[in-house]
Amino acid sequence: MFLENQKKNGRIEVICGSMFSGKTEELIRRLKRARFANQRVEIFKPLVDVRYSQEEVVSHDSHSIPSTPVDSAESILLLAHNVDVVAIDEAQFFDMNLVRVCQVMANNGIRVIVAGLDMDFQGNPFGPMPDLMAVAEHISKVHAICVRCGDPAQYSHRLSESKRLVELGEKDVYEPLCRHCFNQINNERTSIHTSGN
Ligand code: ZN
Repeated sequence: MFLENQKKNGRIEVICGSMFSGKTEELIRRLKRARFANQRVEIFKPLVDVRYSQEEVVSHDSHSIPSTPVDSAESILLLAHNVDVVAIDEAQFFDMNLVRVCQVMANNGIRVIVAGLDMDFQGNPFGPMPDLMAVAEHISKVHAICVRCGDPAQYSHRLSESKRLVELGEKDVYEPLCRHCFNQINNERTSIHTSGN
């Protein structure tokens, strides 16, 4: 469908990091520059992310740009028409098809900017993010600040005991931690659970 549009500037950029690391702000910064240059921009996000608004990409400091919620990665191919830049926010919630979808768009001259959590709350690689990083031209890993010690943080530690992979929320559900503090808390939790038996 994009074959008539074989331009040379197709590429994939990934912006990844923990919660409260400024991923969405960085995505919006790049999109605002593109729009200033009169480039046509489309933003997509997964339907699962309905924290604030169905139609807007809203970062935590409420800079927002209108976006389209989609039920699958495949839908992005159907909906992205006549665009120079396609942005995808909360990409970790998409299925693995997202990797192929981004490749198809980039091969057809579209600049694809993908933002998402690189790790889930247990510190494991999240959804299609690792594969997207492998095929991307550019990767930016942004960091939050560890709430316990002030070092750069890369983990989104979940404050509740829920084991669900997707637990949307704000500061009452997650806190950013560095490796040292993340490991320390998990060790404490394990020892509490074993001594309780
Ligand atoms: Zn720390």
